[in-house]
Amino acid sequence: MSPTPTLSRREVLAAASAVGLLRCAARSHLKPTAPARSAVVLGAGLAGLVAAFELMKSGFDVHVLETNAQPGGRIRTIRDPFPDGLYVEAGATHVVGDPDLLALFSELNVGLFEPARRRWPKRVLFKRGQRSVVNAGEAIPEEDPPLREDEASLDFNGMLEKYFGTAKDHDPRNPDWSGPEFSRLDGLTAEQLLLERGASEGFRQMVESSFCPSGSLKTMSGLALMREALNLQLEIGWDSVKRVVGGADTLPRALAQRLGERVILGATARRIEQGERGATVTFTRKGEMHQLSARHIVCALPGTLVPQLEMDPVLPAAQLQAFSSINAVSVVQVYAATKTRYWNARGESGNAETDLPVGLIRDESALQEATAGILGAHPNGAESRRLSSLADEVRHREVIDAMERVHPGLEDQLLSVHSVCWDNEPTIRGAFAWLGVGQLTQQQPLLRRPHGAIVFAGDYNSHRPGFMHGALASARRVVAEVVTREAMLKAQ
Ligand SMILES: Cc1cc2nc3c(=O)[nH]c(=O)nc-3n(C[C@H](O)[C@H](O)[C@H](O)COP(=O)(O)OP(=O)(O)OC[C@H]3O[C@@H](n4cnc5c(N)ncnc54)[C@H](O)[C@@H]3O)c2cc1C
Repeated sequence: MSPTPTLSRREVLAAASAVGLLRCAARSHLKPTAPARSAVVLGAGLAGLVAAFELMKSGFDVHVLETNAQPGGRIRTIRDPFPDGLYVEAGATHVVGDPDLLALFSELNVGLFEPARRRWPKRVLFKRGQRSVVNAGEAIPEEDPPLREDEASLDFNGMLEKYFGTAKDHDPRNPDWSGPEFSRLDGLTAEQLLLERGASEGFRQMVESSFCPSGSLKTMSGLALMREALNLQLEIGWDSVKRVVGGADTLPRALAQRLGERVILGATARRIEQGERGATVTFTRKGEMHQLSARHIVCALPGTLVPQLEMDPVLPAAQLQAFSSINAVSVVQVYAATKTRYWNARGESGNAETDLPVGLIRDESALQEATAGILGAHPNGAESRRLSSLADEVRHREVIDAMERVHPGLEDQLLSVHSVCWDNEPTIRGAFAWLGVGQLTQQQPLLRRPHGAIVFAGDYNSHRPGFMHGALASARRVVAEVVTREAMLKAQ
């Protein structure tokens, strides 16, 4: 995959010369003064870009340091290895109808569309070593334990309300989960919570496979699962899941374009040294050390990477421990580019449910016009972790062999194979955070707590880890923190 250019040549040169000036300041050992209304943002994922954009609009002098050659972080549209102009979304794909997120798309003039998938007459299943094809609409024998009658009589929202309460009673966007009852629920596993509330085995299995981010009710906090369920209720109420016209990375590219030369790509933050009224960030770029000083530092790196940043003064031990104990979901996607969508000629959509280690298989090209196609494999968390540890060729061979069994003919049609292992990405380290027992009430407040001039943004410390609207909400929160701190410093 090669980086998508996001800044014009002029902008890149301007940014480089700005950095050059700062390098001179660093060399002369002058402690750069931090002017009022200045901020450095670390990381140009959605949280960092939105924070910088909002601060810029409020009149702050802002710079964004991004280690990668392109902005976007976990919003990543991959185009290069694929034929016929096809692309895949390796990260954020679906835009949930969060009003603030939709407003951002509209402000940036980035288009959204409602995906309308064509219906195909045949459905492919691969279970217990057997490929079967059933007519669309034909009932498939249930494998999971059935829901109890009182559960089966409810719609999905009704089931969520029955066991988790309603989003009207406790808005999941409200960060306050304090109090003895919430602490008690956070001390339970998700399984214990559901057993305590009388959920059937069928319901527990449905939750585990459909919206338990850790993939196991035994590891996740009961309260965190409840927050997931309350979020789902809100999202069902918004009733719209859209896709981004031209690929999801259009959003970070639009933000980076608005920020222009303020975004410095290829810049890796290494150290933050705080003074009385600001801080200095040391970063490396093209093998050289540079420094930038500002009143406020917005740290919008993935939470898993915060412990790698050198800080002076260091983070308090409890806060460092909170960052060090973030759990991350493992996600691997393997994509097979094909000469044609030969599965369509058989009346099949290309999507297949399997009990093979490769998990669900999808036609990633279904919404795009082209002759060529792309099949994607989406293994579950445990399998993703194993596949991530294999060499590319070994992983690809294993997945293509499995896909061949599900969609015979693949070998003859195969053009190329590409995979993304989010665990192995040194600038990300894991797809998204999930909360273990006790972490929502004990860890989360520490992940949001400012450390002097440093505030922390990212989906991991929001009400919705693993979603763009979570990253957005965290960015808005830290902007409010910066504005308040700026006013406080001015008043002193
Ligand atoms: C497989 C997958 C599927 C997803 N699907 C969806 C979906 O369908 N819908 C949805 O809403 N969300 C989805 N998400 C989640 C969404 O992508 C994230 O919530 C969001 O992009 C997170 O943004 P962020 O800014 O918090 O973090 P990130 O995007 O991780 O940004 C952090 C940035 O920091 C940079 N960085 C790291 N170290 C340094 C350093 N030392 N110096 C400078 N920069 C550094 C990184 O390169 C990165 O650009 C998905 C994510 C994944 C992985």
